[in-house]
Parts: sequence; structure tokens; C-alpha cells
Amino acid sequence: MARTPTRLYVTDDLTAGQSISLPPSQAHYLHGVLRLSPGDSLHLFNGREGEWLAELRDMSKKQARLEVTTQTRPQMPEPGPWLLFAPLKKDRTDFLVEKATELGAAALWPVFTRHTVAARVNQERLRAQVIEAAEQCGRLTLPELIPPLTLNNLERAWDPARPLWIADESRTGTPLKDLDVSAAPGILIGPEGGFAEAELDLLRRLPFAVRVSLGPRLLRAETAALAALAGWQALADDQ
Ligand code: SAH
Repeated sequence: MARTPTRLYVTDDLTAGQSISLPPSQAHYLHGVLRLSPGDSLHLFNGREGEWLAELRDMSKKQARLEVTTQTRPQMPEPGPWLLFAPLKKDRTDFLVEKATELGAAALWPVFTRHTVAARVNQERLRAQVIEAAEQCGRLTLPELIPPLTLNNLERAWDPARPLWIADESRTGTPLKDLDVSAAPGILIGPEGGFAEAELDLLRRLPFAVRVSLGPRLLRAETAALAALAGWQALADDQ
């Protein structure tokens, strides 16, 4: 049975005839998990030069060499919202990052707030999640991983030209359908414990911020993030 070629993210340049050696972790995945063998084809993308077909040439447990053959998709811009999220427990953050990548987030930006439970984020782990999700869903780019920041520093770090939607659990904000979706916004989601009053005051004062309601129910943070991303995608006709 023909199967869709596996997609792999690589950091190498991609041009016809290029030879690429994969690191042991990827070689193991192709050999030990997917059981590919020399002559099999893969799709490769690097976030810069579109998607290419490549043929597996040499293969062992520890290494694999591929030859890039033809381009299957040109590089396209993949504009999308930036997701600013208060880090959650490990497995919930994994889930959030995987789904946000599938739903087209262009950047992922951890933001520490007063009630954030997680003390740190593991950027390496985020990167591994993002790569796996991008490979699986057919993206041509990875979402950018922006180093964490505390909420108090947000105003200084933010480009005021980009609107910032604040997911406000008081549900008194503007409903998604009434928002301007012509530019991809940032979307800020609070932690499980919600935003502190002082934080909401600070956020309300930001000239580029809009408080957004995601409907009548209180959502978990990861649900709120995905609802906002899917809502933007539908309203902005991101097809
Ligand atoms: N513990 C808080 C709820 C936090 S929910 C409380 O009891 O009030 C986690 C985050 O999800 C919130 O900070 C907010 O950003 C978002 N969120 C949840 N439900 C929402 C809704 N209906 N509208 C907008 N944002 C919501």
C-alpha cells in the first residue's frame, strides 16, 4: 500500500542534488521506528526553501544519508497569530504547543504571570514538540519560539502595531466575531488561576490591547488558546 512520505524538518539548505546526513536521533526514527530502507522517499522542509522530496541513500542505526531530488512545494509565508501563554504543567504545555502549531500559530511566547504555577519552561522540549507537530501537519515553517518574559515587561517588549487580544475570563470582553481580524494579532491566555486584578488593570491600560471573550463558559487555559486560534483562523479565512 502506498503511504504518504514521511515529512522531516531539517536545518540544512535544500537544493536539488544536495546530500544530507541526519543526526542519530532522526536516523533512529527512520530506521528503528518507521523501518525505512535505502530507496525510500521522504519529504523535507527547513522553513526557508519550501518542501522537497529526498531519497534515502545510506542507512544504519546511527546514521542516514539522503539525497534531495525535487521541490514539491515552494516556500509560502505562513502568517498567523502569536500565542502568548502562561506556562502550564508539563503535559498540558506539550498539548498546547502541539495544537497551537497545528492551528497555525506563527510564534509561541511563554509569559509568566502572578498565578502561573510552572516555574520555568523547557525551550528544548518546546522545540521538539513544535518540530514534530509541524512535520505532521504539513506546515512549511516552524512557529518562532520566543524566550519567556514576565507580564510586567510585556508593554516594553511589544510592537504596538500588532493588536493584542487578551483572553479575559470575566467574559465581558468583545466577542471574537466583532474583532478586526485583518492583521494577525497576539493572543494572550492567562494561567489556570486566571489573571490577577492588578494584571488585568495593567492589561486594560495597554493601547494595543483588546479584551476578548471566548463565550459564556469558563475554559481551561489550553482550551481558551485553541478556541481563540481556531476562531481567528475561521474569521480571517486562513485557508
Ligand atoms: N481560575 C480562573 C480561570 C482561569 S481560565 C477563574 O476561576 O476565573 C485560564 C485562562 O483562560 C484565563 O486567564 C483566560 O485567559 C482564558 N479563558 C478561559 N475562559 C475564557 C472565556 N470564556 N473567555 C475568554 N478567556 C477565557
